Amino acid sequence: MIPIAVQGASRERKRQRPKGRQVDAAALQQVQALLGELPRRRDLLIEFLHLIQDAYGCLSAAHLAALASELRLAQVEVFEVASFYHHFDIVREGELSPPALTVRVCDGLSCEMAGAGELLARLPALLGREVRVIPAPCIGRCDQAPAVLVGQRAVEVAGCASVSAAVALEASGQAVARVGAAPTGGDGGNFAVLGECLSGMRSVEAVIGELEASGLRGLGGAGFPAGRKWRIVRNEPGPRLMAVNIDEGEPGTFKDRFYLERNARQFIEGMLIAAWAVGIDEIYVYLRDEYHDCRKLLERELAQLDAGALRIHLRRGAGAYVCGEESAMIESIEGKRGMPRLRPPYVAQAGLFGRPTLEHNFETLYWLPEILAKGAAWFASHGRHGRKGLRSFSVSGRVKQPGVKLAPAGITVQELIDEYCGGMQDGHRLYAYLPGGASGGILPASLNNIPLDFDTLQPYGCFIGSAAIIVLSQEDSARAAAANMMRFFRHESCGQCTPCRVGTAKAAELIEAPVWDAVLLGELSQVMRDASICGLGQAAPNPVDCVLKYFPHEVTR
Ligand code: SF4
Repeated sequence: MIPIAVQGASRERKRQRPKGRQVDAAALQQVQALLGELPRRRDLLIEFLHLIQDAYGCLSAAHLAALASELRLAQVEVFEVASFYHHFDIVREGELSPPALTVRVCDGLSCEMAGAGELLARLPALLGREVRVIPAPCIGRCDQAPAVLVGQRAVEVAGCASVSAAVALEASGQAVARVGAAPTGGDGGNFAVLGECLSGMRSVEAVIGELEASGLRGLGGAGFPAGRKWRIVRNEPGPRLMAVNIDEGEPGTFKDRFYLERNARQFIEGMLIAAWAVGIDEIYVYLRDEYHDCRKLLERELAQLDAGALRIHLRRGAGAYVCGEESAMIESIEGKRGMPRLRPPYVAQAGLFGRPTLEHNFETLYWLPEILAKGAAWFASHGRHGRKGLRSFSVSGRVKQPGVKLAPAGITVQELIDEYCGGMQDGHRLYAYLPGGASGGILPASLNNIPLDFDTLQPYGCFIGSAAIIVLSQEDSARAAAANMMRFFRHESCGQCTPCRVGTAKAAELIEAPVWDAVLLGELSQVMRDASICGLGQAAPNPVDCVLKYFPHEVTR
């Protein structure tokens, strides 16, 4: 038996040692070297995790502990953030590091239809053990389906041969040279409209009035009137912040990347006009991690910009669809897990760092200079079937010419396919279409005459969202499309609330059955719609409900 006095001394010694994993001196030195003079702020946690992963290919337990020590955070706080995001590879003690190169094959619906499954089956044997091949949710290149990322670079015409060639290039180090050939951002954007604002030629009231007259609505999916949002945030006390959403994670959507690659300066001018009109002090631009070349492009453009006292920060996502939701994105910018907030308070009142925040999708800001230069009447003069304005449709699937199509708001899917996409692919006829990406539902070919716009699809159990149109033919099935979507939602649910976390998993399981239990699925949908915290869980049942409503022959006997 140990004498009582010695037990006391032992307890004392234990109290003096910090609890948990001890910080490794070598790992701490490595982390300190990577962070350099950067401020040790909590909101930079995700940026720091990227720095470590970029340098070492993964996040080791020793590096996570060192980072926690450096930021004066509990280790669990660092670990819970690192483990939330799909792009961070955590290597626990005793585990092997992942291979130096990762190939991500998108298994989203458009890519699945274009042969992603075959690539996933064949590439591992072809590329060998030195390369890791993994499925990935939509990477924003549905027009080039099947889309593949080799490391951080997209492969065009993705077949086994082109992926193998890209892997060889990456392994040889020559891929870096391609950055020069990467998107330049175009030479547009002379900042003339911004100049008129700053010089007093245009007043804030006139600019907001023009915006309201144009009818421009948020183009990220929610469709909130842009002018009204400006007034709301402007009326809040300063300092006010802006958060720009370029997360573009909705499967089927790639319009923001398309415009960013071609004319980054038009977007930057729009962002600065909005900041001037609303009285913004700092801007945070949140860009999805998959858009590597766009990040380089924006870094260059922002480095050259003289924005006066306005501070602009570029933040890098880390692979989480839910961060496209405005409050989840704000959490992520603050260096936390991307979990949507309960509202109220709304982000316009208490958003980023608790300050009133103007949150905008990339494309909404992109159109501002053009609308102001050409006038509200120009924008509103477009439109069909009683609708007004222009929409950028991301079209993919069984059409001859997929891509971003700038078309009148209210155009029907048939008109879009015939007039803008060169028709259906040879041998294919329209069977079904998704009017709003993964969450916008599925409609049959017989409803090919509905105007595509905000508010026109709700009576059919659908919505336009970010205008991602995925076209299915007689070679496809709505049931398989719904299964693809539900697997995606199960993967992307942040897990915060039970109806979504358990509901997406349960629905994905139920729709594997040859005959669907319509009553049970209906009840599940209702619970998810009524009780989920954010749009992900609320909209996840849409594809399943649409299959039951419009394609019952596929799931019943
Ligand atoms: Fe998270 Fe889903 Fe709940 Fe949204 S609905 S908060 S994604 S669990």
